[in-house]
Amino acid sequence: MKYYILFGPPGAGKGTQASAMVEKYNLRHLSTGELLRKEIAEGTELGKKAKSLIDAGALVPDEVVEGMIDNAFKTTEGVAGFLLDGFPRTIAQAEALDTMLAASGEAVTSVISIMIPDEMIKERIRHRASIEGRADDAREETINNRISTYHEKTEPLVDFYRKAGKYVEIDGTGTIEEVRQAIFNAMD
Ligand code: ADP
Repeated sequence: MKYYILFGPPGAGKGTQASAMVEKYNLRHLSTGELLRKEIAEGTELGKKAKSLIDAGALVPDEVVEGMIDNAFKTTEGVAGFLLDGFPRTIAQAEALDTMLAASGEAVTSVISIMIPDEMIKERIRHRASIEGRADDAREETINNRISTYHEKTEPLVDFYRKAGKYVEIDGTGTIEEVRQAIFNAMD
């Protein structure tokens, strides 16, 4: 099985590119953000706990997302692999992922990182807010917290995966088609 990680700051275009990637390579798209928003929409206990953290621009606890991912790995059939989007977001999550995969003799295939500068993050999120209406896209303070959470907790993963020889960086500032082509070239 292939285990790709789609990496990048909020608003980098991960969700947009993910749909083309899963189709071309027969992958299951696993977005922890989407899975969490589904829990919130369904009003589950997990969703209730996650909502206040997400609305504040903070991360939900590692164990929560690790459980969701492990569960999806165990219950998915008929795909060539997975596209992880929004996970791992901390070093602890990356280590948990390695442990989970090693238990079945698997490993992360590669990390496709879509990079855009901070100014563009805000522009993209503001644009998305007007289309998708996500609560965590609406408030300036939440967006700022998500950007600082990204730099503090998630960006250290760049080094983690570089050291593992699995890190591929893509310039995310081009058009959707340009970025898609660069990703396909890297994956091929
Ligand atoms: P974006 O990449 O646009 O910031 P996501 O849809 O990936 O948004 O995630 C939305 C929110 O869900 C995050 O800000 C965070 O609160 C929570 N979340 C998603 N994935 C994780 C994760 N792996 N660990 C902890 N929290 C997460």
